[in-house]
Amino acid sequence: MKYDIHEVLDMAFREKMPRIVVEGDDDRLIYTKIAEKAGKTVEIYPVEWIDGLAKERGNCGMIIQAMQQLQPKFEENPKWILGIIDADARDFRPISPKFPDEGNFRSLFNLLVLKYYSVETYFANAENLKKLFAFMSYALEVEIGAEMLQFLAENHENDTEFYYYLSLEALKRANEDTYISVGNISYGGDERFDETYKQRIFPKLQAKKVDLDTFALQKNISLTHLKQICKGKWYLWNYVYRAVFQVDKLIKACEKYPHLPKCANCEVDKSKCNYRMKQPYKSAISLLYNQMLTYVNESECEDIINAMKQLG
Ligand SMILES: [Zn+2]
Repeated sequence: MKYDIHEVLDMAFREKMPRIVVEGDDDRLIYTKIAEKAGKTVEIYPVEWIDGLAKERGNCGMIIQAMQQLQPKFEENPKWILGIIDADARDFRPISPKFPDEGNFRSLFNLLVLKYYSVETYFANAENLKKLFAFMSYALEVEIGAEMLQFLAENHENDTEFYYYLSLEALKRANEDTYISVGNISYGGDERFDETYKQRIFPKLQAKKVDLDTFALQKNISLTHLKQICKGKWYLWNYVYRAVFQVDKLIKACEKYPHLPKCANCEVDKSKCNYRMKQPYKSAISLLYNQMLTYVNESECEDIINAMKQLG
């Protein structure tokens, strides 16, 4: 049985247990982990659990609608419910003519709009990469220094341009109903882009560069907005994908890369390098992706943590 949003607020108040309304099922684990860092015990409700909202608005629009309905109640009960929505590059696309009321989303009390396109991007950072490398190899987290991290992150930069133009293409399509995008690129799909895809699509995107740059200029977008316009699932997946290929090179790193510090084992016994992988991870990138989503970086997630701390 679904819940009425007013009922959810009443329950939260009665039980003194804050509720957080999120977009999807797969967000429950992510936000539970973040709430732990905020020191809060909360219950997370995917918006599909809430009744009486207009499905045609999409999950994000449904959260906006739910929070709109609760605004008058927040005068009495301000601290028991929080809605969280992805930014979805909403600042760079038109408000749906079907739902003009969604235009006030930034002024709604107890609605947090993420700083990036979606929450997954909060997990793509060097600190998390260090944790992931420790998870995959026999090296300890404390042994992975700045030089090693830099080596592992090296290739990510080469993808920046590809993901920038890919995202601009998706955004242009989101702005113009009749726009035909390269390779049918849109924010709607859940594709994971591998090297073959990139090699096929990148030249086509580059051929459109002048148009896409003009579009970016009109929208006041530059490379610095990459995390705001690139879908989080694309961004994090690529981050992990690149790292796995770099890590692979490290299997005999201590021999092959004399500029990097040797692992603790190779100092003693060269037959058992600590940078060797526990298993072949190239075919298990999804597993690593999900592993990354369990590492909450407090400074990166500060806006979410602070909003949660206001609760209860
Ligand atoms: Zn070694």
